[in-house]
Amino acid sequence: MTTRAVPFHCPYCAEEDLRPHGDRHGAWECRACLRAFSLSFIGLLAPPLPAEPMTSPQRGDLS
Ligand SMILES: [Zn+2]
Repeated sequence: MTTRAVPFHCPYCAEEDLRPHGDRHGAWECRACLRAFSLSFIGLLAPPLPAEPMTSPQRGDLS
């Protein structure tokens, strides 16, 4: 597990005055709007499917 990145902006007021909230891991508090929140990892996303080649029939080149 890698070290979690620090949030740079409050998700509620977008201020940058964030401090760790207590001893809870991933818990932060915003000194600007006085909200406490926590960041939690939900899961990994499925990787996007590779782009499919254009298989649609060519149109407009009937001369
Ligand atoms: Zn805030």
